[in-house]
Amino acid sequence: MTQAPLTHLSEEESLFRDQVFGFARERIAPLVATMDRTATVDLSVIQGLFELGVMGIEVPESYGGAGANFFSAILAIEALARVDASISVLVDVQNTLVENAILRWGSEAQRERYLPQLASEWVGSYALSEAGSGSDAFALATRATETDGAGGGWSLTGRKLWITNAAESHLFIVFATVDPALGYKGITAFLVERGMPGFSIGKKEDKLGIRASSTCELVFDRCSVPRENVLGAVGSGYKVAIETLNEGRIGIGAQMIGIAQGAFDAALAYLHEREQFGKKIADFQGVQFQYARLATEIEAARLLVYNAARLKDAKLPFVKQAAMAKLYASEVAEKSASLSLEFFGGVGFTREYPAEKYYRDAKIGKIYEGTSNMQLLTIAKHLRQG
Ligand SMILES: Cc1cc2nc3c(=O)[nH]c(=O)nc-3n(C[C@H](O)[C@H](O)[C@H](O)COP(=O)(O)OP(=O)(O)OC[C@H]3O[C@@H](n4cnc5c(N)ncnc54)[C@H](O)[C@@H]3O)c2cc1C
Repeated sequence: MTQAPLTHLSEEESLFRDQVFGFARERIAPLVATMDRTATVDLSVIQGLFELGVMGIEVPESYGGAGANFFSAILAIEALARVDASISVLVDVQNTLVENAILRWGSEAQRERYLPQLASEWVGSYALSEAGSGSDAFALATRATETDGAGGGWSLTGRKLWITNAAESHLFIVFATVDPALGYKGITAFLVERGMPGFSIGKKEDKLGIRASSTCELVFDRCSVPRENVLGAVGSGYKVAIETLNEGRIGIGAQMIGIAQGAFDAALAYLHEREQFGKKIADFQGVQFQYARLATEIEAARLLVYNAARLKDAKLPFVKQAAMAKLYASEVAEKSASLSLEFFGGVGFTREYPAEKYYRDAKIGKIYEGTSNMQLLTIAKHLRQG
């Protein structure tokens, strides 16, 4: 397996990335095929991720986390995706969506209650999408009604669809509207724990790719949520959602460059082993042109993703760059996975080799956390604004 280039990494960053990649090769790689076939994540892997410290990368040390920056989370997501995109997205959602939202919008009491749990043993989910609300993310039907029983609080009723990590999660950030007449200004974010009365996990999806990553429906039937579990202010959920997803899509870009690199590495090794016409396939110039171009495109995608993450850490505008990074990295991942599969010839089409899994896994990049069309709309909006 070739070493991915150290694009603009400090020594500390490259050590961290190598540590996560080493974990992925030793602890995840042997389980990847089984987890994909059974569509379940091995719990020993989740335990290992907590021990490695990648389930609370940006969580300050005072709350039990690693106290690192967003860029470190991006490196971890990329390194994991080179081996398994399902584990990568589990870590991605935990860091870039759930913890990010609590760090940014949570009250001190919420941070104290949830961040140590998330850094040490709880997996988290981020629940925005519904059957009727995907790209049109704020057309939510899930309702939150204020209750005035003992202590008062909120009652949630509705269904969420496509929720990553739901089978493993203990904490869910759930978006609901307190008043549909208010439009997006009625959207409110709630911190909902597994086991709160009236909350259950529904159907688990049987998917093309990232099969080990659980994707489930959530069902809320007059689910009681304490008043103190509103994340941010009532009516400001749209801000929580937009701003968290702006950051989150850099994570998906990182997942996509990881897939692109993983597929490429496997194929390049094969091209250097397999002989036809009396020489290694890697030595045919026609093939060299193909893999040299692909390596260049993966590097370009990586630069876009790293740049967006660095801008975010520097507190500079990054939304356009994040959309570009996700858009382009998901295109490159699809291309790399497809071409890499072809490099394997017939065996690439079988489950004996990893190429077909990268091919299936890559497809999700153009769909979740805003489809490619949504990224293009964001980019166009920023171009109009100058
Ligand atoms: C595996 C998986 C995991 C997911 N995880 C989560 C999660 O953890 N949390 C969560 O909240 N959601 C999650 N999602 C949901 C995901 O974010 C949505 O599927 C995605 O936003 C697209 O919404 P949709 O499926 O309703 O498609 P639609 O919005 O119905 O889009 C269908 C097509 O129409 C196009 N389209 C729609 N509107 C426009 C427009 N205005 N202009 C141009 N084209 C348009 C889209 O680009 C797309 O090609 C997940 C989805 C999947 C498949």
